[in-house]
Amino acid sequence: MDFISPTAAALSPSLTLAITNKAKELKAAGEQVFGLAGGEPDKDTPENIKAAAIKALEEGATKYTPSVGLPALRQAISDKLKRDNNLDYSIDQICVCSGAKPAVYAALRATVSEGDEVIIPSPYWVSYPSMVQLCGATPVFVETKAENGWKITAEEFANAMTPRTKMIILTTPHNPTGAVYTEEELRAIGEVAVDEDILIIADEIYEHLIYDEEKHVSMASLSPDIYNLTITINGFSKGYAMTGWRLGYTAAPTHIAPYIKMIQDHCASNATTFCQYGAIEALTGDQSFISDLREEYDFRRQYVFDRLSKMPKVKVVEPKGAFYFFLDMSELGMDSCSICEKLLDRYKVVAIPGIAFGCDHAIRISYCTSLDVLKEGLDRIEEFLKKH
Ligand code: PMP
Ligand code: GLU
Repeated sequence: MDFISPTAAALSPSLTLAITNKAKELKAAGEQVFGLAGGEPDKDTPENIKAAAIKALEEGATKYTPSVGLPALRQAISDKLKRDNNLDYSIDQICVCSGAKPAVYAALRATVSEGDEVIIPSPYWVSYPSMVQLCGATPVFVETKAENGWKITAEEFANAMTPRTKMIILTTPHNPTGAVYTEEELRAIGEVAVDEDILIIADEIYEHLIYDEEKHVSMASLSPDIYNLTITINGFSKGYAMTGWRLGYTAAPTHIAPYIKMIQDHCASNATTFCQYGAIEALTGDQSFISDLREEYDFRRQYVFDRLSKMPKVKVVEPKGAFYFFLDMSELGMDSCSICEKLLDRYKVVAIPGIAFGCDHAIRISYCTSLDVLKEGLDRIEEFLKKH
């Protein structure tokens, strides 16, 4: 008897989670490793946020909330989306989920199914294709190039379309490349989507981690027509260093939001109640944590960029957002798993193979770690590149 469904059997494990967990295990076992794989801020959640959740827990916030989240939290999200993103979403259009990851999945579940195609610019965040497949739909990858700043153009988007295309998934700032789309680039893509009636998932989880003169622009803010086709995804994991709290959200047009709610009703009930109180404090309390984090990460980013730019056999695009570098190592003539295996076995450096993101001649490193670890890790990458 074959107990496993064909959809589950077609999945592969999340390499980002597998490798970061492996690095944590090696460290816990006392091995010296230089972890450049982390996909989460290396800071603790701010004290005021923790205190709000602890207080809520002590006061008995231990029961269900509405499936879409506490009204006060959805109000705080609605206010935030207006204030920071120039977006008008009523609290009925917002669904709080247990992380941005389930938020993306609920958005997909509500909209795509068998026979649909979902356009995903590649490299892509590791979980999008699997989520699309879980919905029975087909991911269609459009390769972006380092020379184009790893961004899909409106023309490439239009060319990838078929009569079955239902949606495009856009991430800005981008994981794994750190690319940030400008307003003009987003508008051009949004207009193609409107012409062809294609939905957009706009994953904006890294909005606060943005550098130089770049400005985060929310796709749904660009026109009423684009708004009507866009599901905005955001959350608390990156900007507020709350990855373990598992809190994210969808903000959707009124013709889609009720369906996301029903998926949440049946698959989750609600995100953890006392955590939601912490999230209210995150959005309404002191925001200086975000600018401090951005400043520190910007410093590290510049250091890493400076070092990598002087190394042989690696093509590097300066990332303008998030906390990753995506390093094109095609000159080595090795696949990305072999590169990462060598880096780990011989140089004790943990990095993520680009194949996790659909690009087998690159690796991802992150700067969610101290400058000391970054320095040593980069010394070792340099040694590796010189020897191969
Ligand atoms: N989207 C992107 C682009 C991500 O990198 C991540 C990784 N954390 C998520 C969504 C999921 O975030 P969360 O941890 O809140 O589920
Ligand atoms: N999103 C982070 C990363 O890309 C965390 C891991 C995950 O959610 O897959 O590394």
